[in-house]
Amino acid sequence: MTDYLKLLDSDLRFREGLNACMNCGICTAICPAAAIFDYDPRKICLIMQKRDNALTEQLLASDTIWFCGQCLGCRTRCPRNNTVGYIIQSLRRVSLETGLYLRSDQGRKQIDLARNIGGNLMKKGYCVDMDLVVPEMHPEQGPVWEWVYENRQAVCNRCGGNYHGSGPGAQRTIDPQSMSELQAILRTTGGEAFINKLSKGE
Ligand code: SF4
Ligand code: SF4
Repeated sequence: MTDYLKLLDSDLRFREGLNACMNCGICTAICPAAAIFDYDPRKICLIMQKRDNALTEQLLASDTIWFCGQCLGCRTRCPRNNTVGYIIQSLRRVSLETGLYLRSDQGRKQIDLARNIGGNLMKKGYCVDMDLVVPEMHPEQGPVWEWVYENRQAVCNRCGGNYHGSGPGAQRTIDPQSMSELQAILRTTGGEAFINKLSKGE
């Protein structure tokens, strides 16, 4: 079995996120994700404190690690200076790198995110490009989005954007030099390879 704890220990966020949990549950009491999902940050700390590789593997392959909304409210309240949001970030990274994310429904959603958000970033320099949120492909956006999509240039510019323009403003066209710098950063840091791996569901 892969030594998941070793992988986690190599992540600064994991080391900073978990000091010594006294299991008080304050993080769970203030966590917005815990109010909605079957999710309990206190239990994440409890599991990780056990330093049990098999339990860690179960967690990495579960839906649980994908419910956190990364608000970092837990960081502000924990009496022991733990940050469950950071622990989650490192768990997600290891889950994605080891392919364990493919075992959970929530984890597999990362494939679509990598294809859409990662793909947009590499091609257009944006995480979310209005042109690419085509209503037929995104029925979850509802009928209002259809209208916004059809009128996106006017809506965007009326909200202070700069639709397909040059210079500053949301939804502007990213200039070629900035695009090439962004692509170089993604290539050099391994971001591009990581997005491509996830996009293929590997
Ligand atoms: S608030 Fe801090 S000490 Fe309390 S359960 Fe959460 S992580 Fe542990
Ligand atoms: S960062 Fe995650 S675990 Fe922490 S309070 Fe926000 S949603 Fe909950």
